[in-house]
Amino acid sequence: MGKSVLIIGAGIAGLAAGSYLQRNGFTTHIFDQHTLPGGLCTAWERQGYRFDGCIHWLMGSSPRSNMHHIWRELGAGELNYLEWDIFTVIKLSDGDRFTVYTDPDRFEAELSRLAGPDDSPLIKSIAAAIRNMSRFDLPAAWDKLTLPEAARILFALPGALPIFGTWMKLPIASLLARIASPKLREALSGLYSGDMGDFPVAGLFMMLGFMSKKSCGYPLGGSSAFARSIEKKYLSLGGSISYGFRVDRILVENGKAVGIAGEKGELRGDLVISAADAHDTVERLLGGRYRSPGLDKAFASFRRFPSLLLLGLGLKGDFSSYPHSYSFPLKQPLVLEGGELTLLGMGIRFFSFDPGAAPAGKTAAMVMISTTNDSWWTELRARDRSAYDAAKEESKRRIIAALDSELPGIASAVEYSDLSTPATLIRYTNNWHGSYEGWLPTIKTMGAKLPRTLDGLAGFYMLGQWLNPGGGLPPCGIDGRRLAKRLCQAEGRSFRADA
Ligand SMILES: Cc1cc2nc3c(=O)[nH]c(=O)nc-3n(C[C@H](O)[C@H](O)[C@H](O)COP(=O)(O)OP(=O)(O)OC[C@H]3O[C@@H](n4cnc5c(N)ncnc54)[C@H](O)[C@@H]3O)c2cc1C
Repeated sequence: MGKSVLIIGAGIAGLAAGSYLQRNGFTTHIFDQHTLPGGLCTAWERQGYRFDGCIHWLMGSSPRSNMHHIWRELGAGELNYLEWDIFTVIKLSDGDRFTVYTDPDRFEAELSRLAGPDDSPLIKSIAAAIRNMSRFDLPAAWDKLTLPEAARILFALPGALPIFGTWMKLPIASLLARIASPKLREALSGLYSGDMGDFPVAGLFMMLGFMSKKSCGYPLGGSSAFARSIEKKYLSLGGSISYGFRVDRILVENGKAVGIAGEKGELRGDLVISAADAHDTVERLLGGRYRSPGLDKAFASFRRFPSLLLLGLGLKGDFSSYPHSYSFPLKQPLVLEGGELTLLGMGIRFFSFDPGAAPAGKTAAMVMISTTNDSWWTELRARDRSAYDAAKEESKRRIIAALDSELPGIASAVEYSDLSTPATLIRYTNNWHGSYEGWLPTIKTMGAKLPRTLDGLAGFYMLGQWLNPGGGLPPCGIDGRRLAKRLCQAEGRSFRADA
């Protein structure tokens, strides 16, 4: 009988680790405080509508990327994926619309349409970089590559390496500063929220490159179907999950993690893995007694992705003629959170592309608003539940009115609305400050290697978005696979990825 492994968190990282460990002879048990799998990768159903709180684009959605091997191994290969021809449409202050085509030729033509002639050399090099990145691949599951696949990746490297060399050191704010045309600058800055000026341009090109090769799409059925498919595979491999089990302590004896404890009881195992929030794991579950300089540095100096207000709208009628993703400048600033948050623009996604997202003839839509005022919501909810509910209602009213000023008639089409706040996000996922993706990717943090173990603590590992600056789903799958491989090596057995 293989070693027993207790895993905290049934997010994609915890499920991935469990899935690969199960197929390698370990006996795993996952504990999650919530009643569902997926963690941040989730959706919720209300009155026939499905409100998707996660996937906009998934790297590895098709076999055109090596990452797809991992999603297939994990059980998500059976889903149907939609690949985007248009990533998003951004309305500019002069009323023109910037369409972000995923085909590099059309994207180049669109940038040229918006810019003056002074910017053509820069536009050409942006389009060339995206074309090159579309040939590049992630080092996800090299052991699975066939000879032609490996050759294709190696062949693309000479084109991709200079891009990483040049554009990885260039923050998006510096790219924007190089643009002569104010209109083109406004258009490209619309691809980023204000706090992402330090994001390396190569990250943008990589996403667009993956979209252009049609391996960065959306799973039909949404984020919940994606998470459920991975849960199903894990359970089919003999894994088990206890939902509604909040872990409060990791038990340690003689410098070794030996179990977990929560209100529902104590369990012991040979190894403990935390795929939950890293800050909570170190500070609360382990009482701050075991640390690592790398993580402490991240806690002290890395910037986090913000938290979110997520408004789900159930709309009467067919909105399929609207772009599936659309953002626009507001005619009047939108003031929320008692005056602490002022928005000058907003965006909406219409899920007409996913037939299961709404009853026939109706449309599910989502508005995603970034906020760093998580404490405003959590404190209000703790202090005065009816004031919190009233603040949610007032926020909904204001957001819908702002939408209606851009898309007249939308307010009267709303038959159901549902607002998730940072307090909701923290309750359901326990992420630090309600961050939706961990550490912001910046020139400093992108590619930073964060430790998976803590000094002085044996039998314990960590994984997930907080160990991978930039966050997102692919690192969760990759991390789970790598950790299982590492544990197999430690046991002196060869790793198998197939079920
Ligand atoms: C709105 C939104 C849009 C996104 N869009 C994309 C996208 O388009 N593409 C992409 O790749 N990524 C996207 N992401 C990011 C992606 O969802 C996350 O980076 C990823 O899901 C993180 O997975 P994880 O397993 O590391 O952590 P989590 O999903 O946070 O999972 C941690 C799990 O641990 C559980 N847990 C925590 N503490 C405890 C405890 N004490 N006891 C028991 N259980 C506990 C939680 O309940 C949770 O289930 C998006 C996220 C959001 C919110």
